[in-house]
Amino acid sequence: ETQSQTLGFQTEVKQLLHLMIHSLYSNKEIFLRELISNASDACDKLRFQALHQDGLYEDDPQLKVRLSFDQQAGTVTIADNGIGMSRQDVIDNLGTIAKSGTADFLKNLSGDQRKDSQLIGQFGVGFYSAFIVADKVDVFTRKAGLDSSEGVHWSSQGEGDFTIATLDVAERGTRIVLHLKEGEKDFANSWKLRSLVRKYSDHISVPVEMLKDNFGEEQEEEKAPEWESVNKATALWTRNRSEVKDEEYTEFYKHIAHDYTDPLTWSHNKVEGKLEYSSLLYVPSQAPFDLWNREAPKGLKLYVQRVFIMDQADQFLPLYLRFIKGVVDSSDLSLNVSREILQKDPAIDSMKSALTKRVLDMLEKLAKNEPEKYTTFWKTFGQVLKEGPAEDTSNREKVAGLLRFASTHANTEDQTVALDAYLERMGEGQDKIYYLTGERFSQVKNSPHLEVFRKKGIEVLLLTDRIDEWMMSYLSEYKDKAFVDITRGDLDLGQLEGEDEKKAQEEVAKTREDLVKRIKDALTDQVEEVRVSHRLTDSPAVLVIGDNDMGMQMRKIMEAAGQ
Ligand code: ADP
Ligand code: MG
Repeated sequence: ETQSQTLGFQTEVKQLLHLMIHSLYSNKEIFLRELISNASDACDKLRFQALHQDGLYEDDPQLKVRLSFDQQAGTVTIADNGIGMSRQDVIDNLGTIAKSGTADFLKNLSGDQRKDSQLIGQFGVGFYSAFIVADKVDVFTRKAGLDSSEGVHWSSQGEGDFTIATLDVAERGTRIVLHLKEGEKDFANSWKLRSLVRKYSDHISVPVEMLKDNFGEEQEEEKAPEWESVNKATALWTRNRSEVKDEEYTEFYKHIAHDYTDPLTWSHNKVEGKLEYSSLLYVPSQAPFDLWNREAPKGLKLYVQRVFIMDQADQFLPLYLRFIKGVVDSSDLSLNVSREILQKDPAIDSMKSALTKRVLDMLEKLAKNEPEKYTTFWKTFGQVLKEGPAEDTSNREKVAGLLRFASTHANTEDQTVALDAYLERMGEGQDKIYYLTGERFSQVKNSPHLEVFRKKGIEVLLLTDRIDEWMMSYLSEYKDKAFVDITRGDLDLGQLEGEDEKKAQEEVAKTREDLVKRIKDALTDQVEEVRVSHRLTDSPAVLVIGDNDMGMQMRKIMEAAGQ
């Protein structure tokens, strides 16, 4: 070995290592899934680069992962012939965490091991999970296309630092040797490793091979070791829906989403005809830690005829569905496709609208068939979905149908009311959907604007999320019923008020003309108009906003922005 160097881990890595070792002990075995997942990604990357550079395969074109162990030495080895890493790649990838927002994420951990292990799982533990079971990890790697003299040896005990050295590595790819901790040596066992591969990595599309067990057989001399594939090794999305078990879908989700909680639901489809493609789309059950971070990864994994092309292809779904994870595999796109080409290709637009429909249908189905799961979905991603009416005019009504609101019906803060449920409860003569926006539920639920509605038993939606007023400015109707902000202008309850009632109101208004004029004179600079109102039952007066004026929430937002 030459050019040996000892380097310190980035602070975040040290923190993560410490937390992981102390909070994931009940889930130790995931290290194998993470390392096989990386090995499979490395094979995907090689296959992609070799599209333009055939020579990268050298004389070893069968991509695979090989898993072996040494019971005596207490080691487990994961080797792949994928893309490999250069010295700089190793320093960047196995010494730092590149994800944006990592420091904030780590700050938010509570110290409660059970809660933190959930969070760390969501964060995606990756390579460093090796240190849950190993007290020393050696990585031998050589990047495809580089000379065998440019191999790299990385080694660490998972504490403050790692060493890195240059050495000869004949085979392309990466070999990771885990020196198991005292107490974890039973991972160096054929049966155990095989069952973990089947449990977590069956869906991986490259073969994961292990040496054949030769128990009970007469040992012939000098017999070459024989490898066999332990997993199915076909791309999961190319299989028929009926042949794929739920657990396989779930594990595949964990592989592509870097999340280790189960997804809420998924939709797997093959489209044939003018455009041919398969898609497998998932709704996660937890928000990623960086959901509200602009640079957070979003988009689908794109394959063309089973060849991995790119992660985070964000041209296939609108922004308001950015929480969806999944794969799209096209038969029509060129293997040379790039982000720039995707942006211009009209075929992508029609795939985008079809995939958007699929997602909305999947959510409708979830709401209908598994309302509890839908509640989880709404709590987790409802705020993102609320961007839909503004972004996606062609699906406005479909998105509106998926929204959930608090209302005067249950009179609680929980957002559980669907517009369809509201329509069903509408009484004789009501032809509008009434709503009230405000900053806090405790404030809107006592609003004097609600008095007349409570008296007449008319349900009003209560909207208190920051985004609501902006969203409502894009929603004018649902199933031909107009939305009406009950704080605006002259409230006309239309059919809901009998002729007699109306007449009586007009009479009252006439007898109060003097009073109205006096109030108007006194408040000339403060208000535009003063009217006798019938919307109050207990309160003496209420301020309303003109029909075409900016709403209160929007005013506050503009004010905060210094306008
Ligand atoms: P992630 O897989 O989410 O990127 P990991 O911590 O699992 O995060 O891995 C960090 C990075 O290390 C990977 O993105 C990749 O660049 C590199 N890496 C890890 N394992 C391998 C491997 N077997 N071959 C090549 N690169 C690898
Ligand atoms: Mg990984």
